[in-house]
Amino acid sequence: MPQSRSLFVAALALPLAALAFAEPVPETRWWRGNLHTHTLWSDGNDFPEMVVDWYRSRPAYHFLALTEHNVLADHDKWVENDLVVRRGGRSALREYRERFGDDWVETREPEGGKLEVRLRTLPELRDRFEEAGRFLLIDAEEITDSYSGLPIHINATNVGKLVRPEGGTSVRDVIQRNLESVKAQAEELGRPILAHVNHPNFGWAVTAEDLAHAPAERFFEVYNGHPGVRQLGDDVHASIERAWDIANALRIQELGAAPLFGLATDDSHNYHNESASIPGRGWVVVRAPELSASSLIEAMEAGEFYASSGVELRDVRFEDGELVVEVEPVEDETYRIDFVGTREDVDLSGEAVVGEDGKPVHATRRYPAAVGATLRSEVGPSARYRLVGDELYVRAIVTSSASPDRPVWEGQRKQAWTQPVGWRARVR
Ligand SMILES: [Zn+2]
Ligand SMILES: [Zn+2]
Repeated sequence: MPQSRSLFVAALALPLAALAFAEPVPETRWWRGNLHTHTLWSDGNDFPEMVVDWYRSRPAYHFLALTEHNVLADHDKWVENDLVVRRGGRSALREYRERFGDDWVETREPEGGKLEVRLRTLPELRDRFEEAGRFLLIDAEEITDSYSGLPIHINATNVGKLVRPEGGTSVRDVIQRNLESVKAQAEELGRPILAHVNHPNFGWAVTAEDLAHAPAERFFEVYNGHPGVRQLGDDVHASIERAWDIANALRIQELGAAPLFGLATDDSHNYHNESASIPGRGWVVVRAPELSASSLIEAMEAGEFYASSGVELRDVRFEDGELVVEVEPVEDETYRIDFVGTREDVDLSGEAVVGEDGKPVHATRRYPAAVGATLRSEVGPSARYRLVGDELYVRAIVTSSASPDRPVWEGQRKQAWTQPVGWRARVR
């Protein structure tokens, strides 16, 4: 991937006398990774080494977080082969042996019991797969909580110990409490931990207003490759794309809070199939000086990343009031770049969605089309948008003419999502 030298070059352009006193600006580059993955440690259908190997063997990937439901891969754990067969089929253990060898695969058969296989821990996976500056595994977890039957899942990346689900009195209270608990651990252990709200439309659990009203929230999944997470919404429920704009407009205009940044992830569970929740569908690309958890998280907190389901960017930058997007073009693909934003005169009162029984439904309220309006659309591998000044924020979506190799829905196109800009003067 192309290196970003702009900061570095700017530093070199300073007079020598100034340079002597200036802090050196570290050179940055793009790192790609997936922050949402499951293995047999929770409800995935393959051994952790097989999953890590899938990502590690693809040169485009630099980092990966295994995010199991309420468990860390930090202790001794054996699974019955019956479970492996139920999840991954009869060939799963054989394929694992073929790839890693009999010396590596540990099995046991307790007297009168059934064949069991030991799951390798994260420290063991690190020893085997990590390589400085090339591939990083990050300690992580999917905090798996709920409110009144609605699933509320939050990924915590770079945890030092297990975060237990907190529960709460409403959807947004559950989100807020879990985020506070992540923050408390980060402070206690003195390490950055990135928390992001997963798949808001899974189980129609999290509305745009819920996303807006959890003050500790900073990140969410604008794209999750699992086919069951209702990315596009339906007649009653807003799409994730629209929920992002509504939540961000509410946060900036009504609450004086920073907008949410959007991630794309795989949420992969299935490694023996060509459909279901397979790997390789969604990722983030982070511009950071080095490949370490703290460096990546610091960059993401600064908005120095984009989300992708297939489009690679050469650059995205916000300078002198202008958002500039440059695609790394692929032969035979064309690109449309949409600049999307919401202006300050928008009416954010919204209207409740009412069911057939006349009662309000737990769904994102309806807002005018001016929320998340397309401010400009250009065809080509690069485009720029100069902010007029009345925008609460502006972001860009790049859509390719090509489909992903293994699309989630019919007609899906490869996309990239950049983070909202132009909002900093409006938030507290
Ligand atoms: Zn989940
Ligand atoms: Zn998940």
